[in-house]
Amino acid sequence: GQKLPRPQQTRFFTVSNQKGGVGKTTTTVNIAAALGAAGLNVLVVDIDPQGNASTALGIEHHADVDSIYDVLINDVPMADVVAACPDVENLMVAPATIHLAGAEIELVSLVAREQRLRRALDQYAKYREEHGEPRLDYVFIDCPPSLGLLTVNAFVAAREVLIPIQCEYYALEGLSQLLKNIEMIQKHLNDELVVSTILLTMYDGRTNLASQVAAEVREHFPNEVLRALIPRSVRISEAPSYQQTVMTYDAGSTGALSYLEAATEIAERG
Ligand code: ADP
Ligand code: MG
Repeated sequence: GQKLPRPQQTRFFTVSNQKGGVGKTTTTVNIAAALGAAGLNVLVVDIDPQGNASTALGIEHHADVDSIYDVLINDVPMADVVAACPDVENLMVAPATIHLAGAEIELVSLVAREQRLRRALDQYAKYREEHGEPRLDYVFIDCPPSLGLLTVNAFVAAREVLIPIQCEYYALEGLSQLLKNIEMIQKHLNDELVVSTILLTMYDGRTNLASQVAAEVREHFPNEVLRALIPRSVRISEAPSYQQTVMTYDAGSTGALSYLEAATEIAERG
């Protein structure tokens, strides 16, 4: 496959949008797979109790699996829970299990409750160095669609926010609330955080509405919106039921090619 530039230091992304079903998980797994296939070292951290990213990447995540839950709540090292994605070289996954559903509540009474993911990732970076493993190039955190402590942990652990926006009528609704929440995180918990990347997803080129929404988002965020557009595609939505990303399920499809384009832009923007 195509080679992409290696960032000078690890880039930490949280893939966030308080709306469900806008393509957060699909974007996380496909961009991560595209970067992994291009020879970069990538970690996906699944912090959605649904575990959809773990499923799509072919990682076991039944209730008995050691998962990001144990990392956040029981101080288990990240190195003990990460698993290699079977289909993509260089792609590691910290899976989510259903136990995470209780973590929102359990985190409340723990010390440094907002910093736990960041600390775990810092420790994991040290572990990799000490064990002669290559430095991670990218970390993507797949968030649940709510602003609870799990999502706050992701905002604190990340340096960059990637917002997928569905090209539909209510796309911009809720976005201002998301941006307000991010400002609050910047002010109180993580002043390095930036909204670096916006990706338009589920684009249906046959409708005027989709192109209007896309134009409007580009006008508001001229520097953040990627040129690549992700089309609405049956191949993209089928892939997870085969425990795959579209990048391996149908590498030549327009969906796979558009995610490759988006990943390339992200890597080249550095
Ligand atoms: P979120 O993580 O934001 O809840 P998902 O990535 O799970 O959203 O996507 C929601 C649903 O839409 C899933 O069933 C997914 O397979 C489907 N989907 C995502 N992106 C596309 C696309 N570009 N074309 C068609 N279906 C898509
Ligand atoms: Mg999701």
